[in-house]
Amino acid sequence: MTNSKPSVSWHSLAAAETLAVLDSRPEGLSPAEAADRLARYGPNQFQVSRPVSAWTVLLGQLRSVIVLLLGAAGMVAFYTGDVLDGAAIIAVLVLNVGIGFATELQARRAMAALLALEVARARVIRGGQLMDIEAPNLVPGDVLEVAAGDAVPADARLLEAIELRTLEASLTGEPMPAEKVADAKLHNDVPLADRASMIYKATTVVAGRGRAVVVATGMATEVGRIGALVSGIPEEQTPLERRLDALGRRLVAVALAVAGLVAWLGMRQGMAVGELLQSALALAVAAVPEGLPVVATIAMAVGVRRMARRRALIRHLPVVETLGSATTICTDKTGTLTAGEMTATVIQLDNLEVSITGAGYAPEGEFRVKDGRIDPLADPRLEAAIRICALSIRGGVSRVGDSWAAVGDPTEAALAALVGKAGLSRSTLLAEWPQVGEVPFTSERMFMASFHRTPSGLLACVKGAPRRVLQLSSRVLTNSGSGELDDPQRQLLLNWNSRLAARGLRVLALAQKQVSSADEAALGGLTWVALVGLSDPPAPGVRETIATFRGAGIRTVMLTGDQRLTAERIAEELGLRSPGDTILDGSEIDRLSDPELRDRVQRTAGYSRVSPEAKLRIISAYQACGEVVAMLGDGVNDAAALRKADIGVAMGRRGTDMAKEAADLILEDDQFPTIAVAVEEGRVVFDNIRKFVFYLFSCNLAEILVLLGAGAGGFPLPLLPLQILWLNLLTDTVPALALAVEPAEPEIMRQPPRNPQEAILSAPMIKSILGYALLISGCTLLAFWWGLTHSLHSTLHATTLAFMTLAFAQIFHLGNARSASPVLAPARVASNRFALLAVVITGGLQALAVSLPPLAHTLRLSPLRLEDWAMVLSLAAIPAVLGQGIKVFRRAATASPSHFSVS
Ligand code: ADP
Ligand code: MG
Repeated sequence: MTNSKPSVSWHSLAAAETLAVLDSRPEGLSPAEAADRLARYGPNQFQVSRPVSAWTVLLGQLRSVIVLLLGAAGMVAFYTGDVLDGAAIIAVLVLNVGIGFATELQARRAMAALLALEVARARVIRGGQLMDIEAPNLVPGDVLEVAAGDAVPADARLLEAIELRTLEASLTGEPMPAEKVADAKLHNDVPLADRASMIYKATTVVAGRGRAVVVATGMATEVGRIGALVSGIPEEQTPLERRLDALGRRLVAVALAVAGLVAWLGMRQGMAVGELLQSALALAVAAVPEGLPVVATIAMAVGVRRMARRRALIRHLPVVETLGSATTICTDKTGTLTAGEMTATVIQLDNLEVSITGAGYAPEGEFRVKDGRIDPLADPRLEAAIRICALSIRGGVSRVGDSWAAVGDPTEAALAALVGKAGLSRSTLLAEWPQVGEVPFTSERMFMASFHRTPSGLLACVKGAPRRVLQLSSRVLTNSGSGELDDPQRQLLLNWNSRLAARGLRVLALAQKQVSSADEAALGGLTWVALVGLSDPPAPGVRETIATFRGAGIRTVMLTGDQRLTAERIAEELGLRSPGDTILDGSEIDRLSDPELRDRVQRTAGYSRVSPEAKLRIISAYQACGEVVAMLGDGVNDAAALRKADIGVAMGRRGTDMAKEAADLILEDDQFPTIAVAVEEGRVVFDNIRKFVFYLFSCNLAEILVLLGAGAGGFPLPLLPLQILWLNLLTDTVPALALAVEPAEPEIMRQPPRNPQEAILSAPMIKSILGYALLISGCTLLAFWWGLTHSLHSTLHATTLAFMTLAFAQIFHLGNARSASPVLAPARVASNRFALLAVVITGGLQALAVSLPPLAHTLRLSPLRLEDWAMVLSLAAIPAVLGQGIKVFRRAATASPSHFSVS
C-alpha cells in the first residue's frame, strides 16, 4: 500500500500545481475531507518498527563470561567422569540462560517501548482554521505550518518559506542546515539534498517558518521508503554496565588465580588429580556471581519503569545513572520555573499605564486606566499598539472544550488573547493589510518584524526585547502624534521598562515604521509605540523543589532571555538566591573570559538575557568546575545546551521537537518537580545496584574463603561445585533481585550527590564485604568441622551441614544488605515485600533440597536431624544478628546515617 502517488516528482511542480494535483487549497482541507483521506491513506506512521531482536539478546547472554565458565565447568565434570555433575551443570546452564534471556528480553522490551515514545504533533490549517493535531492524523493535501524547533511530520511541498532552514542529516547525511524556498521549480532528477522547495519527514526545522502542503505520509515518505530510522533503538551499554562487565572479567581472573593456589596447596598435600580438578572447579564457580548481569539489567529496567510511572521518561539509558550524581540544575525560566501560561497584563504608553484584566488565554477582559474602564480603540496610541500585536503574532489561541489554549509560543498566544480582548481579529486586519514579508524572531536577534501593504504604503510592525527595540527607534508615538526620541525621553522609556521588569513581568516593546522595502535593513529609525508587560507567575511546587534540591546538595540556577530585573524578581520569589549570589547578565558574560566565567558561576543564582551561545559557555563553565549538569529547556534556543549538558531534560508537552530530540529525559507532565523525582529514582537505582553488588560479592567471597580455609587446614572439600552453583543461582540471585527493587532510603534526598568518579564499591564497603565474608565463612567452617569431628563423622554429612549453614547465612544476610538502617523496624521489614518473598522462597527451596530425595541425591546431601537443623540455623543467624546489632548501635551513635553504608 502507498499513501500517495509515488510517481509524481513533487519538487518539479510549482506550488499551485501541487495543490491542484492533491486537490487541496491554501486554506486547507475540510475536516470531512481530512477524515476521508485518513481512512483511504492510513495514519501517518511507520508500520514496521523493529524491536531489539530476540537473537541479539540471546547471543548477548551466551557470550557472557559467566556462561562460558559454566560451560567449561560442565566439560571438566564430564572429563573427570562425573556424568551426573556434568549433566546437572549443563542443565543449570540452560536454565540460567533461559531465565536470563526471558527476563532481560522483557526488561529490554519494556524499556524500548519507553525509549521509542513519540508524541509528535503538527499544526495544520483545515477549513481556514489553524489547529494543533496529532501527527499520525496528517493526510496528503493537508496544509502544514512549521517553525523553528519543529520536527517535520510528513513530506511536504512548500507554499511559503521565511528564512526557513532544515537539518536533513538523518536523510542526506549533510551536517549543515539546508536553505528552503517556496518558489523553486526544480528539474525532475535533482537529488534529495538539493530539493529546496520540499521538506521531509524526520528532518528538523532549525530556523524560520514555513507553510507547506503534505504530499506523502507514513511509509510513503522518503524516510519511510528508505527504511532508515526505523531500525529501533541503538543498543546502548551504560557506563555502569561496562564497569560491571569489567568487574566480571576481573573476577574470572581472581577465580583462576585462587584455583591455581588451591591446586598448588592440594598437590603439596598429595591430592589426586580428579579431586584437584574438582576443587579448582568449585573455586572458579564460587568466585563468579552468576546472577549479576541479569540483576543489573533488571535494576535498570525497574528504575526506568519507576521513573516512567512518575512521568519522567528516559530516552538514553546511561542517564539513569548520571541522574543520581547530578550536582547542578540549569533551567530555563519560561514554562519550566514559571507556569508558562502568559498573560498580557499591562500596556505602557509614553506616559500612560493601561492595565488589562482577565486570566489565561481566553480573549475576555477589560482595559482599565486607574479604576476606570476605557475603550482600547479610542486612544490612537493604544490602538496602534494592539494593531502591531495583531499583525505580528505568529501563533494564537484556540478553544479546547470550555477553555482556551495556546497554539505555539506562549508569548505569542498571550498577545493573541490581548488582541481578542480589544475586539480585533488578526484575519480581518490581514484581509485589509496583507502581509508581504517577515523577519522571524530568533533569540539572537531578540525581535521580529512583519511587513504589510497598507493604503499609505508599506508598514513594518516590530516587537521584541525593549533595549533592542529602543536601539532601533528614533521617534516615539505620544498623545500629540509622533515626535523625536530625545535622551530624557529614552531614559523615561527605560525607567518604565525597569518598573515593569521589577514586578517580574516579561517585557516586550512594540514599534512601527513606514518603510520602502520589506527587509531587515529597512528597520532603523522606528517609531516607539508601547511596552507590553506579560505576567508569568512561578509554577506550583517549584519553590519547594528548589528547596529539596538544595537539601540534596544540588544547586538550581536560572537561565533566561528576559532582562535582569525580571530575573532578579523571579529568583527572589523562587528562593533561588543564597546570600551573596548575584544575577549575571548576558552583556557581562560576553565580556568575561572562560576562566573568569568559571570563577563566577559558583556565586550566581541566575543569568539574564542569555543567548544560546552564552548558555553553552555557562554549562561548560560548570562542567569545568567538575559539576554534573542537568539542563532543562524547551525552546529551539535550548537544543544545543541540552546536548552539551550531562543530562538534557525537555518538557513533553510544551517542548519543541528539537528540544525533545536533544534531550535524554522528558518530563511528560511539564512539571518542574518531576525532575526531582527523576533525580531521586536515579539515586535509588545506583543505591540498589550497590546493595546487590555488595550482597553478591560478600556471598561469593564467603564461598571462596570456605574453600580456601578448608584447603589450608587440610580438610576435604567442604562444598561441591554443583552445590556452589545452586547457591549462586538460587540463594544469591533471588535475594539480589529483591535488592534491585528496594525502595528509596528515607534520607536519600537529604544527602549530597554521589561523586561520579566514585567506584561502585567504596573502600568502606570493600572492608565490610570482607568482614561479612569472614563471618559467614567462619560459621560455615565451624559447621563443617563439627560435622567432621562430632556428628556422624561422615564427610557427606559434614558437607551437608556446611552447605546448609552457608545457604541460610546468605539468606539471612539479605537484611544486612538492604539498608543502612536496621531492617528489623516493622515498617522497614515490610517496605519491600519482594525481600520477604525472597527469604521465604529460598528458605523453602533450601529445605526442599535436603528433604526431597531426588534433589538431595543430585546435590549429594544427607538428611538433617533436628539437632542438625538447630545448629545450622543458629550458626547461620550469627552474621545477620551481628550485622543488625552493629546497625542499631551505629544508628544510636550517629544522628544521621550515611548515604548508603552497609559496614
Ligand atoms: P526565553 O528563553 O526566556 O524565552 P528568548 O530568547 O525566547 O528567551 O526571549 C528573549 C527576549 O526576546 C524576551 O525577553 C522578549 O523580550 C523577547 N521575545 C521573546 N519572544 C518573543 C517573540 N515571540 N516576539 C518578539 N519578542 C520576543
Ligand atoms: Mg522563548
